Amino acid sequence: MCGIVGYTGPREAYPLIIKGLKRLEYRGYDSTGVALLNGGLKVHKKKGKVADLEESLVGVNVHAHTGIGHTRWATHGEPSDRNAHPHASASGKLAMIHNGIIENYTQLKGELIKKGYTFKSDTDTEVLLNFIEEIKSNNNCNLEEAVRIALKRVVGAYVILLLDQDDPDTIIAARKGSPLVIGIGKGEHFLGSDASPMLEYTKEVVYVNDYELAIVRPDELILKNLGNEKLTPYVQKLDLELAAIEKGGYEHFMLKEIFEQPQTVYDCLRGRLDAASNTVIMSGVQKHIDALKNAPRVIIVACGTSWHAGLLAEYVIEELCRIPVEVEYASEFRYRNPVINKGDVIIAISQSGETADTLVAIERAKEQGAIIFGVVNVVGSSIARISTTGSYTHAGPEIGVASTKAFTAQLAVLYMIALKIGVEKGTLDQSLFNKLFNELNAIPDKIAEALKQSEHIKKVAEKYKDAKDFLYLGRGYNFPIALEGALKLKEISYIHAEGYPAAEMKHGPIALVDDQLPVVFVATKDSYHEKIVSNIQEIKARKGKVIAVITEGDELIKSMADDVIEVPEAHEIVAPMLSTIPMQLLAYYIGVVKGLDVDKPRNLAKSVTVE
Ligand code: GLU
Repeated sequence: MCGIVGYTGPREAYPLIIKGLKRLEYRGYDSTGVALLNGGLKVHKKKGKVADLEESLVGVNVHAHTGIGHTRWATHGEPSDRNAHPHASASGKLAMIHNGIIENYTQLKGELIKKGYTFKSDTDTEVLLNFIEEIKSNNNCNLEEAVRIALKRVVGAYVILLLDQDDPDTIIAARKGSPLVIGIGKGEHFLGSDASPMLEYTKEVVYVNDYELAIVRPDELILKNLGNEKLTPYVQKLDLELAAIEKGGYEHFMLKEIFEQPQTVYDCLRGRLDAASNTVIMSGVQKHIDALKNAPRVIIVACGTSWHAGLLAEYVIEELCRIPVEVEYASEFRYRNPVINKGDVIIAISQSGETADTLVAIERAKEQGAIIFGVVNVVGSSIARISTTGSYTHAGPEIGVASTKAFTAQLAVLYMIALKIGVEKGTLDQSLFNKLFNELNAIPDKIAEALKQSEHIKKVAEKYKDAKDFLYLGRGYNFPIALEGALKLKEISYIHAEGYPAAEMKHGPIALVDDQLPVVFVATKDSYHEKIVSNIQEIKARKGKVIAVITEGDELIKSMADDVIEVPEAHEIVAPMLSTIPMQLLAYYIGVVKGLDVDKPRNLAKSVTVE
C-alpha cells in the first residue's frame, strides 16, 4: 500500500514532499522517510507518521531540489526506523522507496548473501535495491539499465523510485501492479501514488502503466518499456481541485465524507437519471447492453466495503434483472480455478481502482473471455483501465481510511445498472422502474435528513462505547448493511463486531447474547418487517441491548428497543442507502469518544495494493 512522492526541479524538494506525503498518509502511516540529493545522498527516516519525521528534522539541513519520500504500510518487517523507507544500498550511493511486495525476495536475498551482502532491514525492498546495485556494478551499466535487468527477475508488485548520488537530478521510476502518476510542470516533474501531492502545481499528468520505466529529470520525462523501447507518454488533464482533498472545517476526513454524501450521491446520479426522458443514461452499460442483458450469470468481485456493495447488488440485480449473481471475495476468486462461462459478466467494484486482488482477479477473468464491468471511484485507475467497460462513482477523493461516501456512490451506480438492464431486458416493469427512478432521485435529500440524527447518534455512541462486542443484524436488502455496520465499527473503534442475517442469528450467535451485548438491528420497514420485529423480541427476551435503525415513526420497534435511530421512509430496495448513514456515524462517534484516530485506524491502509 504505502504512499510515495518524488520531485525534481527548481523548488525546495523537502517541504513539497512532506506536504505530498501528508496527503498520501491514508495509504499507510507506520513509518515515514525521505531521501534527498544535495551534493550527496541524505536519507532521513523514522517510525511513526509524517509529522513525527518532520519534528525530528527541525533544524536539520534538508535543502535539495531532487528527492523522494515514503509513508509505509509494512508488509515485510515490523514498523521501525530501520525498516522504514527509503532504503540505502550497500554502497550508500543509491536510495529506493517501494510500494508493493517482492514475492521472490527470499531467493534474491539468498543469492546476495552468498555474494557477501548484509542487510540492515527485514524488508523485501532492501533486497531488490541491492540486487539492482549488484547488477549495476557487475554489468558496469547505468541505473536505468540495472533496474530494467533486475525487474525481469522480480516476481511481485511494485512501484519503485530510485535516486543515484552520481546522477544528481534524476529519479528512476518503474511500476507493476501499484499506482504511479507523474505530474508535468515547467522545468519540473512530480511523482506520486496518486495525483494529490501535485495538485497545486500542475494539471498535466501521465499515469504510468505496468512494465513501464520512467527516467525523470527537471526538463525531461523519458518513458520506456522493459525492452528499452521508448514510449510516448499519454498526457491527461487532471480534473481534481485542491479543496476536494482538504478537511473543509470538519474534525476528520471521515466525518466530512459522511456529510458529503447528499452531494456525492447527487453527483453520481446527475446526468444518469434523466428526468426528461425518464431513462437511465449510462454509456458504459449502453455500449454493452446486449451482452449485459443476455448474460447467463453476473459475478461480482470485490473486497471489504465494496464486497458489501456487491452483496446488495446481488439482491437487486436478481430481483430486477432475473440474472443469477455470485459475489466473490477477489482474494479467494483469483486463487481458485473459477468456472467462467461464455457470456458471463464480471462486475469489479473498488474505490481506489487499485485493489491488488481485484485487479488480478479480473485480469484472469478477462483472459477467459469474460466482459469486465468496472465500478470504481478513481478516474484513470488500473481497474478502470483494464475493464471492458464501466461506470465511475464520482464520489471525489475519499481520504478517510474507512470507506463511507464511496460505498453509497457504489450503491447508487449499482442500482442504476440494475434499473437499466432490468428495463431493457423487460424483467422490470415500467411502474416499478418509475417508482425506483423517483425514489433514487429523492435519495440525496433523504440522506441529508438522515444526517440530522448525528447529535443523537453521538449520544448513543457514548452510551455503548465500552461494550466489548457488538452484533449487527439485518434481513434482505438490509443484511449487507448489517455487515457493513459491523465492519465500520471494527475498523474505527477496534470493538469486535459481527454482522449476521437476523434469522441466522438463532443458529449460533444468539449464544453470545446477554445483558452486556448491544445488538444493532437494521430494521427499516420492508417486506420482512414482522420477521425482524420477532428477532428483536428474541434478543430482548435474553436481555440483549437493542439499538434499532428504523423508518421514521415506527412506533412498534420504538416501544421495544433500548435506543432507536430514525431514517426517512424509502422503498425497501433503495432504503439501504439511508440505513447505511447511522452505521457510519455510530462507528465514527464510538471511535471519537474512545479517543482514537478515526482517519488513520491502526493496521489499516486505504488502498490495498498488496495481496
Ligand atoms: N514491502 C515493502 C515493506 O514492507 C513496502 C510496503 C509498502 O507498500 O508500504 O516495506
